[in-house]
Amino acid sequence: MNFKSLGIIDPILKALERQGYETPTPIQEMSIPVLLEKHDVLASAQTGTGKTASFAIPIIQGLYGNPSLVKPRIIRTLVLAPTRELAEQIKDSFRLYSHGMDLKTDVVYGGVSQHKQELSVRRGLDILVATPGRLLDLVNQGIVKLNHVEYFVLDEADRMLDMGFIRDVRKIVSYIKKERQTMLFSATMPNEILTLAHELLNDPKRIEITPREAMIDKIDQSVYYVAKSKKVDLLIDLLVNPFMRRVLVFTRTKNGANRLVKALLAYGVKADAIHGNKSQNQRTKALQNFKNNKLRVLVATDIAARGIDVDDLTHVVNYDLPETPETYVHRIGRTGRAGQSGIALSFCSQEEAHLLQAIHKHNKMMIPLVSKQPFHIEIRFGQTKNEVKQLKGKGSQRGKSNQFGKNKRMSNKQYSKNTNKKNSNHNYRSNRSKKK
Ligand code: AMP
Repeated sequence: MNFKSLGIIDPILKALERQGYETPTPIQEMSIPVLLEKHDVLASAQTGTGKTASFAIPIIQGLYGNPSLVKPRIIRTLVLAPTRELAEQIKDSFRLYSHGMDLKTDVVYGGVSQHKQELSVRRGLDILVATPGRLLDLVNQGIVKLNHVEYFVLDEADRMLDMGFIRDVRKIVSYIKKERQTMLFSATMPNEILTLAHELLNDPKRIEITPREAMIDKIDQSVYYVAKSKKVDLLIDLLVNPFMRRVLVFTRTKNGANRLVKALLAYGVKADAIHGNKSQNQRTKALQNFKNNKLRVLVATDIAARGIDVDDLTHVVNYDLPETPETYVHRIGRTGRAGQSGIALSFCSQEEAHLLQAIHKHNKMMIPLVSKQPFHIEIRFGQTKNEVKQLKGKGSQRGKSNQFGKNKRMSNKQYSKNTNKKNSNHNYRSNRSKKK
């Protein structure tokens, strides 16, 4: 299968060639012909599968084949994305795939001054990529008009839901005419998204690229059992490996990300963090430095990492396990993009045992355990919800008192057995450090 056989016109084929794309990815193979036939599409696919091109190419082809003579240009395509980073990447992709075709694409998002965005919109655009909040602001000020939109894309709809944007999305849609082609992409399809799809789409074709098929089998995954307090040491120990060239590390919290960066810098590992508390400029700079190899490690929280498109990521590290198994699949999908294989390492502390179990169940496979490592601990599975809660709450108090009340599964005796085991690991580590 090649791009030409999908019915793509020459100028776009040339642009794809410039990008070095030889064969369409599965989602491109499935979506492009359907979209060229003007069907609406409901697609389950995540970033990393080539989905941006799967909607951008047919849209560009539609706009080019039916040019508007109105000047200044009017917005004929609207793409909504949940994060600034993803919006930027979609804008870049549209520009690349429409190279030399006299189409104008730009992006608007919050957190930066409105002025430049306003000028760009006033000069005229064919394609606008936007995050919902800023777009609504601009619509309410009468700067952006959506009444000429013919192609409407809602990207990463499930993430929009997580981030509380669905109301804004509905409001935005109310400004767009009904005679349009609509494409909804989402990694997962919770009921709220299916309801939204029902409202927005007209007799859509359903396209499904399951992450499993797309990439999970291509990724070399492993898990390390480690005490929460030893995760930094484990990561530093692993970073001795020079093959860990470009590493994306996920932490659960923004503070956790900052603390980890501090610790890595103290060990001479070039690292920076991106998360919601960083300004847009700081995030762009960190991402740029990471792409230019000025940073070896980028530490991110899930929301900030959405849509980050960094080629040649050697490793993804789940420093903290995610709260949902779907997020695990998203995270490890950062490595092994567009068919490349990648490596994903996950750290699991006793407090996170239930999260690891959920991942195993969801992916119907066990992540191979690396026990030959200096910080290995034994982990017990199958705790009650209460035990997990207590462990989480008193994580830093462990060893000081017995946190399990009567009737709980772990007896004092067992607890001390575990503590001893941990101590023996500490001994191992100190022996090891002495040897160094
Ligand atoms: P996306 O899922 O749209 O974020 O795309 C993931 C990555 O795959 C991006 O770096 C694209 O440039 C790249 N890509 C998309 N389609 C192809 C293709 N057909 N061949 C090679 N790389 C591709």
